[in-house]
Amino acid sequence: MSIKSVQFDQPLISSLGASGAATGAACSIGEAWARVPPDLSPAEQQQAKQRIHALLEQHNAVLVTHYYVDGPLQDLARETGGCVGDSLEMARFGAAHPASTLLVAGVRFMGETAKILSPDKRVLMPDGDATCSLDLGCPADAFSAFCDAHPDRTVVVYANTSAAVKARADWVVTSSIGEQIVAHLHARGEKILWAPDRHLGHYIQQQTGADMLLWNGACVVHDEFKASELAALKRELPQAAVLVHPEAPAAVAALADVVGSTTQLIAAIDRYPTDTFIVASDRGILYEMGARHPDKRFLPAPTAGQGAACKSCAMCPWMAMNSLAGIEQALRHGHGEITLDAALAQAARQPIERMLQFAAERGQRVRTSGSHEQDASLFTHHGVA
Ligand code: SF4
Repeated sequence: MSIKSVQFDQPLISSLGASGAATGAACSIGEAWARVPPDLSPAEQQQAKQRIHALLEQHNAVLVTHYYVDGPLQDLARETGGCVGDSLEMARFGAAHPASTLLVAGVRFMGETAKILSPDKRVLMPDGDATCSLDLGCPADAFSAFCDAHPDRTVVVYANTSAAVKARADWVVTSSIGEQIVAHLHARGEKILWAPDRHLGHYIQQQTGADMLLWNGACVVHDEFKASELAALKRELPQAAVLVHPEAPAAVAALADVVGSTTQLIAAIDRYPTDTFIVASDRGILYEMGARHPDKRFLPAPTAGQGAACKSCAMCPWMAMNSLAGIEQALRHGHGEITLDAALAQAARQPIERMLQFAAERGQRVRTSGSHEQDASLFTHHGVA
């Protein structure tokens, strides 16, 4: 097997400092933390949820949230018949749901993906400036030039990218299906150009043996997990199972019992008889894990200490911008609406649909609502992938 030795042919441009100024971000890391709304009291939360429930009905809207947003937002999505999931599940749920307005609580590329798959629906976000370091670190013009320089490669991009980057790709993949799609392309003899997450790309390269050229991007949250501290914690807790998202560095993934997407990590808990898990992913995922398994203990994996770009809290600053107040304002005033050029959206839709078709043909199921009956009826026209 021959693997191209050049891993990173693109200079590092995702060097987000604490200010985030390196990329000219619309909302830098520092700005994101400053815009995280204050916590509400339990009584205020309950009142806000009641108002939002009424607004969702009034606007024929459904709430679609990511596992990384605040727990009360995840609760509200479930209580109102919406969805809590990873980025693929969110987009599929929104496309299949009969609501005319999708309220997407997550980061901008998730709202864009929802709009791409549901062009006739209104897509609102609690804060349209909430972005992602992977998206910021992969500007469309530089990425397009990178693709032009390697015309012999099949372009595979992670879902955490802008619509413009997706439009330049042959395939869009999520972390739950990226390895299978790359293995499929590799078996067909295709060489891969991968963007933007270098750790996920490296992990898939190791698993599949594919010839992959990697863009040099990283997630500011997952990049902070540290192998030496994790190894020390494992020695303290030898009974614990270690769950790692593949956006974490390779040395961290090497210590894992399970490497997988958010959905795959949540599902993995059932397979381990232990009552203690160390989790190297955004802290928000612990809420779902704890809700499903209140009898078990979930510990965040160690990060880089006080110097970490994400405040060493294993929390995404942009995910933290989502709030009940933001959801209410979006519904009440139409704030945070996602709009896309129709031609761009159409171009970006093709590589996403290629992934969905691939998944559907192989019968890969993506959990959405947690109810098999509800999932099956929602995906009548999209295939339960
Ligand atoms: S956790 Fe990382 S990959 Fe996810 S949205 Fe935040 S910066 Fe992007």
